[in-house]
Amino acid sequence: MNRHLKHEVLKCDFCVVGGGLSGSFAALAAARRGAKVILMQDRPMLGGNASSEIRMWVRGAKGKFERESGLISELEERNIRRNPTLVPSLFDATLYSMLRENENIRLLLNCSCADAVAEKGHIVSVTGWQTTTYTWYTVEADYFADCSGDSILAPLIGAKYRHGREAKAEYGETLTPDVADSYTMGMSILLAARETDHPVPFTPPTFANVYPTDDSFANGKCDNKYALSRDHKIGTSGCNLWWVELGGDMDSIHDADRLRDELLAAIYGVWDHIKNRGDHGFENWDLEFVGFLPGKRESRRYIGDHILTEGEILEGGHFDDVVAFGGWPLDDHNPHGMRQLGEDTSPSVCIPTPNPYGIPYRVLYAPDFDNFFFAGRNISATHAALSSTRVMATCSLLGQAMGTAAALAVQHKTTPRGVYEDHLAALQRALQEDDMFLPGKPVSYHKALTDAQTNLTDAQKGALFNGIERPRIEGDENGIWQNVGEALTFTFPAPTALGTLRLRFDPDYTRESISINKKMKVFTQKLHTGKDFQPVKVAATLVKGFTVLVDGKAVFTTNDNHRSAVKIPLNVTGRELSIRWESTNGAKKVHLFAVDLI
Ligand SMILES: Cc1cc2nc3c(=O)[nH]c(=O)nc-3n(C[C@H](O)[C@H](O)[C@H](O)COP(=O)(O)OP(=O)(O)OC[C@H]3O[C@@H](n4cnc5c(N)ncnc54)[C@H](O)[C@@H]3O)c2cc1C
Repeated sequence: MNRHLKHEVLKCDFCVVGGGLSGSFAALAAARRGAKVILMQDRPMLGGNASSEIRMWVRGAKGKFERESGLISELEERNIRRNPTLVPSLFDATLYSMLRENENIRLLLNCSCADAVAEKGHIVSVTGWQTTTYTWYTVEADYFADCSGDSILAPLIGAKYRHGREAKAEYGETLTPDVADSYTMGMSILLAARETDHPVPFTPPTFANVYPTDDSFANGKCDNKYALSRDHKIGTSGCNLWWVELGGDMDSIHDADRLRDELLAAIYGVWDHIKNRGDHGFENWDLEFVGFLPGKRESRRYIGDHILTEGEILEGGHFDDVVAFGGWPLDDHNPHGMRQLGEDTSPSVCIPTPNPYGIPYRVLYAPDFDNFFFAGRNISATHAALSSTRVMATCSLLGQAMGTAAALAVQHKTTPRGVYEDHLAALQRALQEDDMFLPGKPVSYHKALTDAQTNLTDAQKGALFNGIERPRIEGDENGIWQNVGEALTFTFPAPTALGTLRLRFDPDYTRESISINKKMKVFTQKLHTGKDFQPVKVAATLVKGFTVLVDGKAVFTTNDNHRSAVKIPLNVTGRELSIRWESTNGAKKVHLFAVDLI
C-alpha cells in the first residue's frame, strides 16, 4: 500500500467482500437483523453476473412450486412493480435501493479487496483500493464474508480451497473425471439485441472472429470444422447465447483478461454471423449491448465444515442444518466451451435434480477460522455439486442464510461453527420469519394466534397453520381463500401483546409467465427485446389493498401492496386482531398462505 495515497480505516460488525446477489443479500440480511455492515464491491454497481454489466438472468429451482422466496423474491417483486419493461439499469437501481434503504449498510463500490490481515485463524481486517477516490480502505470487523465468487480472501488469509474437478474415486460422482484436474466451467460475454421495424446493417469490429457457417462455432478461430450447431435463435424468449463460452481449460482467474479478448472476438463474430452470414431472419434487429466484462461461472471453492456432493443433491439433500435449497439440474459445462474438439461436442451435460433439495449451513463457513463465512459460487461443494448450486436464485438464498447467521454470530459473540452448534434452531426460525422456505422444516406459529378463536372453519385453520407456506402438489389447497371485503379475525381470551404481523400472500406459484402475452418466463430480466415484448405485470393473486384492525381500530392500511411477504410492526396490545381484504391485483379471491406474529 503506497503511503502517499489517502488511507481510511473503517470499523463494523460484519464486512462482506463481493456484491453479487449472494454478497448483496448476505449484507442486507445481516443489516436487517441489526449488524453494522460494510460491503466492498469492486464494480460500479451491485448484482455481479445479474447486473447490467453482464446481464445473466437469474434462475433457480426448476420445480413448479419451488420458486425461491426471501430477498430474491423481494428483488423480483419490486423489479416487476417499478421496472415493468425490464430495463437492465433499473434492475441495478432496484437492487441498489434495497441496500441503500438500510442505514446499517455502508457500500464501498469500485473498491477491490487486495489485502487482508489474519492471525491464528482470525481475520483482523481487509483492505481494498477504491478507484473513484484513489483511496485505500481498510475495514476492521468482527466477522468477514467472501462473496467475491473468485474467493479473493483464500490466497490473502491462507484459507483452504479447491479448484477444478475432483477425481471420481473421491466422492463417486458421475460428472467427474477419473483423475482430478484443474478444469472449471468457462466464462461468457453476452449480447443484447432489439427488434426494429426496418433493416439495420451491421459491420463487425476488426477484431471479431469470422463464422461463415453454423458449423463454424466449434472453434473460436474458425480454422477447424467441428460440427456444432449451437442455437442462435435469439428473441424475447429465445437463446441468450450462453454457449459463447471459453476458458474452463485455462486459469479462470489469472487468464481472465486474455479471455475477455477472445470472448469479445467470439461474441461479435456470432452477431456478425447472425446478421450477415446466412438467412437467420434478423435483418431488422439492432445490437443494443455487448458486455465488456466476462461473466464467470466457476473458480476457487472454499472447503467448509461440510462439502456438498452430487450424491447428496441427488438424494434430496436431507440435512438437519438445512438453510437453503436448490433445484437447478446438475449442469456441467464442457471446460473447452466453444473450442470443444472430437466426438463429444455437447456444451453441457444436464442431470435433473430433486426439486427441491436441501443445502446445509455447514457449507457456508471455514472451520479453521473463527470469524469467516462465504456464500455464492464459492461455497464448500464439489465441482459437480456446484454445477447445480451456482445459479443465482440459489446463491441468493445462500447469501441470505449466511448473512442471517452472521447477525446471530454478532449477537451472541460466537463463531460461525458456534452458530451451528448452539443457535441452529434460532437461525432456521429467523430464516423462516424472513420468508425463506426450508424443505423438511415446517414453520411454527405464535401460540396466541393458533389458540385464538377465529372466523375460520377447523379445516381452514388447519390449512393456514400447517407450516407449509406454498403449494406442494398440483391442486393443493394450502392456505385459505377469502373474498375481497371479508376479514380474517382472531379473538384472544385476554389483552395480548401484538408485535410484528407477518403475512404471506400467494405470488402465483403456478403462473408460467410474467408478461401479458406469456413471452417472458417468471424471472424478471430480459436480454433481447422482440416486437412481441410486452411489459410484465404484478401477479394477480397478490393482495393489493388490506387494512389491519386491532379492537376495531385501523392501525395499518395500504392500497399498493405488490409483495408476497409482508411484515407490519404493530406493537400494540389488543383483544381482537382483524385483517380486512380491500383488493387484489386482479384475482377474484384473496389467497393467504400464512399469518404469524413475531
Ligand atoms: C454466462 C453465464 C451464464 C450463466 N447462466 C446462469 C443462468 O442462466 N442463471 C443463473 O442464475 N446463473 C447463471 N450463471 C451462474 C451465475 O451467474 C453465478 O454462479 C453467480 O453469479 C454466482 O453469484 P455470486 O454472487 O457468487 O458471484 P458473482 O455474481 O460473480 O458476484 C461476485 C461479485 O464480487 C465482485 N468481486 C470479485 N472480486 C472482488 C474483490 N477482490 N473485491 C471486491 N469485489 C470483488 C465481482 O465483481 C462480482 O460483482 C451463469 C454464469 C455465467 C457466467
